[in-house]
Amino acid sequence: MAKSALNMGDVSHGNSQPPGVPVLMYHGIAGPETGPVPKAEGKYWIDAPQFTGQLEKILSSGYLVAPVRDLWWVKNYPQGSSPLAITFDDGHATDYTVAYPLLLEFGFRADFFINTAFVGSRGYLTWSQIVELQKAGMSIQSHGHEHVDLTHLSPQELSRQLGHSKRLLEDQIGRPVEFLSVPYGLVNSRVIGEALSGGYSAVCTSRPWPARMGEAEINRMAIHRQMSCKRFESLLARKIWPYAAALLRQALLYLPKQLFLRLNPGALTVQVSGEVQ
Ligand SMILES: [Zn+2]
Repeated sequence: MAKSALNMGDVSHGNSQPPGVPVLMYHGIAGPETGPVPKAEGKYWIDAPQFTGQLEKILSSGYLVAPVRDLWWVKNYPQGSSPLAITFDDGHATDYTVAYPLLLEFGFRADFFINTAFVGSRGYLTWSQIVELQKAGMSIQSHGHEHVDLTHLSPQELSRQLGHSKRLLEDQIGRPVEFLSVPYGLVNSRVIGEALSGGYSAVCTSRPWPARMGEAEINRMAIHRQMSCKRFESLLARKIWPYAAALLRQALLYLPKQLFLRLNPGALTVQVSGEVQ
């Protein structure tokens, strides 16, 4: 389908609000039976009550909640409706044990981006859980085969990370996998080019700004444990300040993050030891 035909990201509530669709990015959701959260990931996991409270706010805000998979193709939304997407990265087991029941309770569908190399490992989704999520209407997409910085791979290895995960997922769920979310939020034109030529429709990033659907890059806002209710409500209200503040923070952390990943190559290959977005 032609990307240029899509321009649904222009839903705006006024001149002071950034146009586009809020796409929220979650990682693990800690429930009463999930055990201790890995220290390196603590910042990116939120507790089930916090997540429930956020779903309540999304519901009361009147958003049209749908997966990126569905929203990306829509040319025009129904008059007066504002779309929003909920996404999960990494394929943690809590996607199924904690997030899934809550999403069902609220009647929301979400995108789950899976690292196929980790499926069935301790703390991660199993294939049967992934298939069940898919059958329930959830969107199953790729986070690469392993959790690696895609921007520094050889052409062959980049092709393998994107292609192998896509094929494995498609074989299991029986439908196309069209979207890639990049580990650590690290992306460049080479990664996007390889994704598009390899059959993906678009790449989900960690650029904290509302997304323009139909384009090759889809911005997403990471939801952190420390995010206050007020800030979350401001995101939903599409105030510009929480997005601008997150953009500024990301710019300031860019070089330290690159340095961290270069000095800690284990963080790139070991099971998601530090999701630096
Ligand atoms: Zn990740």
